Amino acid sequence: MAKVSLRHVYKSFGDVRVVKDFNLEIEDREFIVFVGPSGCGKSTTLRMIAGLEEITEGEIYIGDRLVNHVAPKDRDIAMVFQNYALYPHMNVYENMAFGLKLRKFSKAEIDKRVKEAANILGLSNLLGRKPKELSGGQRQRVALGRAIVRNPAVFLMDEPLSNLDAKLRASMRTELSKLQERLQTTTIYVTHDQVEAMTMGDRIVVMKDGVIQQVAPPQELYDHPANLFVAGFIGSPT
Ligand code: ADP
Ligand code: MG
Repeated sequence: MAKVSLRHVYKSFGDVRVVKDFNLEIEDREFIVFVGPSGCGKSTTLRMIAGLEEITEGEIYIGDRLVNHVAPKDRDIAMVFQNYALYPHMNVYENMAFGLKLRKFSKAEIDKRVKEAANILGLSNLLGRKPKELSGGQRQRVALGRAIVRNPAVFLMDEPLSNLDAKLRASMRTELSKLQERLQTTTIYVTHDQVEAMTMGDRIVVMKDGVIQQVAPPQELYDHPANLFVAGFIGSPT
């Protein structure tokens, strides 16, 4: 069974339709990437899956559960945004531990999860620092850490690496892919960066003006782009 399903999903803001007849079945443990130019509806679609944006029409399922009217906190997901606000008065450890404390995890379990996530993300030496004592890239990794420690069934990531410099971004791509394998979660990853999409996605959803243009693994997208837009966007020779 699909882990996340979108069926005939539409979204309008006022009279403007920004997502049109979005249909997609995301498999368990899949790393799926939504890619497309700025304004094409990637974030809006992700926010509908998260429950942060109401669906105008259609249905979204997580597993076999219709979640159209399920609150974000009751969906088995964790999200990472481009500009995720950290708690300024808490240090890195506390920021990562906070969501687990709320959910009444034991101290030992919290400690294990936070340290593991910190290790994966290269934050082990920074656990005592406050957000203001971190670089932008380090803050973003703390935001990733907060999601990772929760061990959700589905990760939603909206351009989580876009604030990092090119070198760090490249190494974080690898780290995220490894992480996905290790945690065996399903990830929906939004980016406007073709390279990121092509290197990270098991399958890629190419969007334009709120409409899916093609859904395919990277190689297939490259070899058999569905139209000129996909070819041009991915950069394949057609
Ligand atoms: P992307 O993430 O692909 O850059 P978005 O999903 O953020 O695109 O936006 C898709 C379209 O919806 C854009 O035209 C954007 O201006 C519009 N939009 C997004 N959020 C709102 C909102 N809250 N109110 C009105 N229009 C919005
Ligand atoms: Mg966006």
